[in-house]
Amino acid sequence: MSKFDSVIGLEVHVQLATASKMFCRCPNIFGKEPNSLVCPVCMGLPGILPVLNKKALDLGTRVALALNCAIQEKIIFERKHYFYPDLPKNFQISQYARPLGEEGKLDIKGETIRIKRVHLEEDAGKLIHTRDYSLVDLNRAGVPLLEIVSYPDISSASQAYDYLKELKLIVQYVGASSCDMEKGFLRCDANISLKEEGSPTLGVKVELKNMNSFRQVESALEYEIRRQEKILLSNKKVFQETRLWDEEKKITTVMRTKEEAHDYRYFPEPDLLPITIKEKDVETQKKSIPEMPARRRQRFSQQYYLGEKEIEIILSNMFLAEFFEASHKIYPNTKKVVNWIIGPLLEVLNSKGIETEKIQLTPDNFARLIKLASEGKVTNIVAKDILSQIIDKDADPERIVQEKGLSCVSNQEELTGLVKDAIESNPRAADDFRTGKEQALMFLVGQVMRKTRGKASPNTLKSLFIKILKEKP
Ligand SMILES: [Zn+2]
Repeated sequence: MSKFDSVIGLEVHVQLATASKMFCRCPNIFGKEPNSLVCPVCMGLPGILPVLNKKALDLGTRVALALNCAIQEKIIFERKHYFYPDLPKNFQISQYARPLGEEGKLDIKGETIRIKRVHLEEDAGKLIHTRDYSLVDLNRAGVPLLEIVSYPDISSASQAYDYLKELKLIVQYVGASSCDMEKGFLRCDANISLKEEGSPTLGVKVELKNMNSFRQVESALEYEIRRQEKILLSNKKVFQETRLWDEEKKITTVMRTKEEAHDYRYFPEPDLLPITIKEKDVETQKKSIPEMPARRRQRFSQQYYLGEKEIEIILSNMFLAEFFEASHKIYPNTKKVVNWIIGPLLEVLNSKGIETEKIQLTPDNFARLIKLASEGKVTNIVAKDILSQIIDKDADPERIVQEKGLSCVSNQEELTGLVKDAIESNPRAADDFRTGKEQALMFLVGQVMRKTRGKASPNTLKSLFIKILKEKP
């Protein structure tokens, strides 16, 4: 057992899904030609005037409310000074003394992690390093970010992982960001210190950066806990510093010694007046918040008796959760609907590279397709094939079955004929089965399946083969 308690706090940056940037009209789009989405404001030219994007404020408010924060009546933007090649103004417009939201909380598996603050700020540009020189792309400069800072209430690497997963889900559910980490729409820094078990005195804090996935955050924290433990056990001192996670070597290395808030010389941005947050606007945002994942989790368990794993998958995407409920309303067979979503639906999306939100198939037609398969009117193979055809354009599955003649071959005479044919043309497989080789049966079933293009039920075929092969030695 460790003699130390880990004290972890997380700082999460989320890129808000606005149409334009935070203080200018440049589009907020990822992946465009470098420096094609810029104007004097986001390039930081002298004499420019920033104008706040109302949508960014609304989305930020929504997240802050979903995290149970108190929304400030008056907020101010401040200049945070530092020099960096991708920050042409030499300061970032951020919030310091009066952030948008304060004192929220997030419950993780029965434990509460307090949220210290939620504030708005602009993003910096991006540096592209080549071997001999670096390039600056300012497309991202001025894109709206929401920073969500937790209190150091997190006590383990795995709890940090759970917190991040839940936070991401909430931000996605309120529609504030897609949180796509590969595009850098969600970034996370962590700070961690160790203290003697049960002691009220905090240890020296180390900041961790450069983690590109929640798993990397977890690994970096685990590594850091071991590293600091070793130092403390040998009666040495942990230094206050910023360390970078090296995913390849699975270690952290020193980046710089810690700077303090006063190093940034925060002061109110003179070009933006303090903003009064109207009660009416807060109410509007409150109303736009859908049922949150935690509440939905509970309801799905009570209402549909879904298992933990099923809930996890279905709630991992709000669109999917709603698709499930709408389909279930039309065909209230929970097990079938869940299995069709977790199985074929996600498989088809995956194989076709379609995002869940882009499903065109209506829950109505999806439910009818499941019903067709469940009632044995089409085989599962055929149903899955139809699903793959209509997922991105929607169509009535029954009509496709009729038009293409995909109904299940259920005529006993026809099936018996097919089975006998298969036995005749594959005498060795038939003999193999008679002498106890089970795989031979699957081979024979496969022959008929191929001939009927998947329209015969494999189970019916199996029993027919067994019956006929045992009858006639
Ligand atoms: Zn601009």
